[in-house]
Amino acid sequence: MPADLHVHTTASDGTESPERVVRLAHALGLDAVGITDHDTVCGVAPAQEAARSLDLEVVPGIEINTDYQGREIHILGYYIDPGDAAFRARIRELAGARARRVERIVDRLRSLGLAVTMDDVLRVIGGASPGRPHVAATLVRLGIVGDRQEAFDRLIGRGCPGYVPREKFSPVEAISLIRRAGGVPVLAHPATAEADHLIPELVQAGLAGLEVYHPEHGAAQVVHYREVAAKFRLLATGGSDFHGYAIHAHLGEVVVPTEVVAALKLQART
Ligand code: AMP
Ligand code: ZN
Ligand code: FE
Ligand code: FE
Repeated sequence: MPADLHVHTTASDGTESPERVVRLAHALGLDAVGITDHDTVCGVAPAQEAARSLDLEVVPGIEINTDYQGREIHILGYYIDPGDAAFRARIRELAGARARRVERIVDRLRSLGLAVTMDDVLRVIGGASPGRPHVAATLVRLGIVGDRQEAFDRLIGRGCPGYVPREKFSPVEAISLIRRAGGVPVLAHPATAEADHLIPELVQAGLAGLEVYHPEHGAAQVVHYREVAAKFRLLATGGSDFHGYAIHAHLGEVVVPTEVVAALKLQART
């Protein structure tokens, strides 16, 4: 029975609430769903609450965005102790950094002559973990671009005039943080991270798993990363990276057997 271990909600840049993700996952017949919002765990408790009366397990998670030599590397963390003080302090800092970055992006867009304000963006963000997708959605709403992709391609993608780099946080630091908080660190979509050469260093830092199954991975990449996972004795995880029905893959489109959930639990410090 399947588990989709990579799902975003309105707690970050997903379009569906944690409650709705749980209902959709249940309707699809999933056994488990991993809530992995960008730099926040705020979607986890509402999802768990919504799943209480259902035969669906919510796997608590996070996706931490990090940088390495100009590349974006995403580290998933499962079963982190939500009460861990160091972890809480660090994600609060990350939230502040995200908000400051969005403000700087808006400043840049305004200096390019575009009629967008921070208030416009804040209305789209609501209470979520702020990010560039919220800026993109705002630009669409204001009619400044035709769609979200155009916003990234012309204005806020890497190398574009409205691009502002994020504050530096290294993958090794994220892995150590997750481990110290009792969680299980997994390298997300390694093919898009183009980070194969980094894997030994990440394993040394405590990496426990590799996201072998992901919508961006073709068959050859799945075979390759299964071999890499076996070589370094890493758990092979996977998920849809669902953000909403208009964006990328659908919920449950990429799944792994529920045994992977049990294996993650074994790796977590309980
Ligand atoms: P942020 O965390 O604010 O840097 O936003 C990262 C998110 O923006 C990613 O998870 C993607 O959903 C989206 N994104 C980043 N780059 C692009 C791009 N070039 N085209 C479309 N979406 C993108
Ligand atoms: Zn996202
Ligand atoms: Fe990611
Ligand atoms: Fe993701």
